Amino acid sequence: MTFIDQWLRPDIKNISAYHVPKSKNLLKLDAMESPFGIPQDQKDEFLKYIDQSEINRYPDAELTQLKDTLRALMDIPEEFEVLLGNGSDELIQLLALACNKDDLIMSFEPSFVMYEMVSKYAHLNYCGVKLDSNFDINLSKTLQTINTKKPKLIFIAYPNNPTGNAFDYDSIIEIIRTTDALVVLDEAYYAYSDKSFLSEILNYSNLVVLRTISKIGFAGLRLGLLIGSKETIIQLNKLRLPYNINTLTQASANFLLQDRQQILKNAQLLIEERQRLFDELSMISQLKVFPSQANFLLVQSEEAQSLHSSLIKNGILVKGFAAKSDLTRFIRITISEPNENNTLIAAIKDFYG
Ligand SMILES: *Cc1c(COP(=O)(O)O)cnc(C)c1O
Repeated sequence: MTFIDQWLRPDIKNISAYHVPKSKNLLKLDAMESPFGIPQDQKDEFLKYIDQSEINRYPDAELTQLKDTLRALMDIPEEFEVLLGNGSDELIQLLALACNKDDLIMSFEPSFVMYEMVSKYAHLNYCGVKLDSNFDINLSKTLQTINTKKPKLIFIAYPNNPTGNAFDYDSIIEIIRTTDALVVLDEAYYAYSDKSFLSEILNYSNLVVLRTISKIGFAGLRLGLLIGSKETIIQLNKLRLPYNINTLTQASANFLLQDRQQILKNAQLLIEERQRLFDELSMISQLKVFPSQANFLLVQSEEAQSLHSSLIKNGILVKGFAAKSDLTRFIRITISEPNENNTLIAAIKDFYG
């Protein structure tokens, strides 16, 4: 037995590390990244701005400017407070840290894998309520689970990853009303979705909204935000590590997020491409394409596993699911700009001959 084997908390040995597939030289359509980088005509000014950063000093701890930038970008009302994380993943972990020993975290199945992983890291119980055949919330089963298992924290991805749909709004309201749990509406894909729960924070003291800039073009900066009432955020903020948002992320975001029009325009283009890709792929009889409110499409196919590997052979990486997963007959495709989408469409058409 190695030292670490006898030293480590036993349950950690059974956790498998978060897997990131190799993507070198592949067209990357697996992780909901935006295809749009920093506009060429902004690069010089951007570098000049970054150059003013004092790397020898700790980052701004108050994060005032960055919070104001995010408030302006996302129309966050004055009366709400904002907590920033090194990616929204860090905030998911922070919320788990706020739970008590033996508490239960609830979410849905299938949904974002980090909810369950973070529950395990924090040594908490986890329960994923199965979605119905349209990947919507089964309300009676959900309310029953809330009633019997009394979750402390409920994560609802809205729109959901990896299915792409936005759950029924009224069902979510019913859940928020019923439960004593803190309900986290994870709006990572807010920019591609028709509706948001942001304004509902005024109506429900147990509601917070989680967002990120990862899916709107800035995954490399690692910046997420939790939005809630002042009372709620002031308490949760105690669990944030000091200086968790580094100086370069702060400076980059302050500069790049000013261009709200460009960010909205990019999102709009991806929404249009989503429709085009949906229509094109729906014409292939062997595929079932699910409606999406996000920057990706979930696609069902009997040949999902071989389609996935065939696309890799053709230089395209989409998200596949493990053979033992409920989603083994699915792939998830990130929407990109027109040229890259055309490459993907051609490769899939080729596969089906
Ligand atoms: C991608 C994603 C996140 C993670 O975002 P980061 O800010 O990059 O950590 C959170 N929630 C959902 C539902 C996501 O799909």
